[in-house]
Amino acid sequence: MKETIVFLTGAGISAESGLQTFRDAGGLWHGHRVEDVASPEAWEKDPSMVLAFYDARRRAVRDARPNVAHEAIAALEERCEVIVVTQNIDDLHERAGSRNVLHVHGEILKARSTVDPSLVYRLAKATIDMGDLCEKGSQLRPDVVFFGEGVYALAEARKAMRNARRVVVVGTSLTVFPVAGLVKEAPFDAERYVISPDSHQQVPDGYMFLQGKASDEVPRLLRDWP
Ligand code: NAD
Repeated sequence: MKETIVFLTGAGISAESGLQTFRDAGGLWHGHRVEDVASPEAWEKDPSMVLAFYDARRRAVRDARPNVAHEAIAALEERCEVIVVTQNIDDLHERAGSRNVLHVHGEILKARSTVDPSLVYRLAKATIDMGDLCEKGSQLRPDVVFFGEGVYALAEARKAMRNARRVVVVGTSLTVFPVAGLVKEAPFDAERYVISPDSHQQVPDGYMFLQGKASDEVPRLLRDWP
């Protein structure tokens, strides 16, 4: 039964909450390419630098507030079954009220053991410091997916896409795989949309492009749904 409405979201939906996309940030952090900081190799070589990078992201997330796009998606849950598949590591969907969120790239407000990935902790403080240990005595790292690591909940995300009656892709360049490949899983007879202000946005076959900011286009599209 195709009843679910699936949102596939990326950094662009949180841009208007003040959280920069990597591209808007120039793809750099303190002169390093973001892909070189958020990587398993960087963690091996210089974990303090990686922790500092994510501490800064976490501070920005704590200071940010959900915007009307997050809120419109959450409000839709009162009327239909909604699944949000997000590449974002922030918690703005949850703070807006969404209850069904798959964080395929992890969550910045959580820490994870480096010896046992099943040991995940909600952070009580703003930073993860060297010497912060899991209950098995190993260093904690952010519970986020570094570039090159396997993503979370991919099977669940695929299943959601396959059962979707409508799919809305918001604020993602669709360049980070495997998540970008999820768009192809949607049924051919589902209504499918891509929202982005970028005239060079990738728009997969079968998707309708709504060019504009998430804060304008998401509430406009959802107004009369279901
Ligand atoms: P991305 O690949 O997610 O692309 C950002 C997209 O958002 C672009 O297509 C851009 O045109 C679009 N966009 C910009 N402003 C928008 C707006 N107001 N409304 C709608 N769309 C808008 O971006 P990236 O920054 O290169 O991200 C790479 C990876 O890092 C992804 O996993 C991303 O989600 C993650 N990331 C997450 C956060 C966060 O959690 N808030 C922030 C930065 C990056």
